[in-house]
Amino acid sequence: MRASFAQGTTRDIKFRKQQLNSLLAGVRKNSKLLLDALSMDLGRPTVESEVFEIAPVEYEIGQFLKYMDKWAKPDKHKLGSEQAALLMCSMEVRKVPHGTVAIIGAWNYPIRLVLLPLIGALAAGNTVVLKPSELAPHSAMAIEILVSECLDPNAVRVVQGGAAETSELLKQKLDHIFYTGNGKVGRLVAKAAAEHLAGVTLELGGKSPVVVHHDVADLGATATRIMWAKLANSGQTCVGADYLLVHRSIKDKLVVLFRNFIENAYTKSPQKSPDYTRIINGRHWQRIMELLDATKGNIINCTDDQADQADRYIPPTLVDGVHPNDPLMSHELFGPILPIITYDTLDEAVNLINSRDQPLALYAFGSSKTTEYIVANTRSGSAVSNDTMYHMAANNYPFGGTGPSAGLSVDQKVCVCRLSEQINKAKPNSNSETKLFKSLAIILNDRTAL
Ligand code: NAD
Repeated sequence: MRASFAQGTTRDIKFRKQQLNSLLAGVRKNSKLLLDALSMDLGRPTVESEVFEIAPVEYEIGQFLKYMDKWAKPDKHKLGSEQAALLMCSMEVRKVPHGTVAIIGAWNYPIRLVLLPLIGALAAGNTVVLKPSELAPHSAMAIEILVSECLDPNAVRVVQGGAAETSELLKQKLDHIFYTGNGKVGRLVAKAAAEHLAGVTLELGGKSPVVVHHDVADLGATATRIMWAKLANSGQTCVGADYLLVHRSIKDKLVVLFRNFIENAYTKSPQKSPDYTRIINGRHWQRIMELLDATKGNIINCTDDQADQADRYIPPTLVDGVHPNDPLMSHELFGPILPIITYDTLDEAVNLINSRDQPLALYAFGSSKTTEYIVANTRSGSAVSNDTMYHMAANNYPFGGTGPSAGLSVDQKVCVCRLSEQINKAKPNSNSETKLFKSLAIILNDRTAL
């Protein structure tokens, strides 16, 4: 890859466009292969995979094809009269590729987490080594098939493997490393980048809180939106809702609404629902169950199901009366368990968030004044008022974490996606057939009115 970068293969903008067009055609042609792989790895319903993995990739390629010429053009700035010495010069800032880039993906959204950064890297003229996560082996293989079928091997290659192979890859002289995954490995990646003074982008995780204050406009819609961010992909989402901070006066009502949502979306037995995703593997299943076993909180079973190791299944579970020092609060949960902490004053909630690592995302429900107060007095990679995860649709805004959810090499930007406090009525209880697809439709319809 270094040799082909040196030969200039990827410098030509026509070549880059051709590669992106070919990738787009390949994703469309192979969409069944990709969706089946995701289903085998995660037991995830097709509609979720289409919404979260395939559609964003197609959209991103479309955006790059549309704007690439503009973005690739040199920037020219007008010289002020005080810079008279330069008036006879022609000056510009040219956009140049890094060189050879490694993209190392995680298993939870195994297609988008490698293809989205690939699109940007290719469009900018880099050569790329892709390393998909070994924990989602069917998706990793589908990516290899897709890349070898439609991209020039002088521009992109896929390497497979786990920690040992990735460590070898990281010893290579790379110009930039784009890593998505947990912070422990993120630190190893940053060290490896330092060896060669390579650039590094770290997309890490953390415990993203949800705060619900008593002045929220519509508790029903609030419950739907929180459960969506907890149960999509069975909670295995970097910007998912990790834990809930709720004002004491509305906690019981919210718990009833959560239970209604779960039953309507997945029935009393989500294990039999085609809409409920599995935990990625036995190790992660064990990790989540150990945290659940160790909690001192009050476990509220919301279904008739039991956790099932052989099926990598954990039912949606609420845990009430959780203390901030509870084992469930020790690490990012990455599973369908929602710890609930009650507070009496808003400052208690804000102080609790500020006493912990800065999260990747923060969700604040309440009046505009309340949500503004929460967002202004906390730090997070992104923050959303009266909704969850919706900022992921804002493709033209920056995305990333801050502090331990990103590494300090990334610009620390908070993207505030402020939605109206007047949440329209979502009706998760209205239809006994409600399944995830319908819940999603409700959420999306509900949003179009905002
Ligand atoms: P993972 O186990 O798939 O690991 C990620 C990558 O690191 C894999 O490609 C793996 O092969 C490699 N790896 C693992 N151990 C290694 C080692 N010792 N040395 C070198 N490479 C190694 O995924 P994970 O870490 O479990 O991912 C989940 C985490 O990722 C969560 O914390 C989640 O929040 C975060 N995440 C962040 C984003 C984001 O955009 N910020 C997106 C998705 C996931």
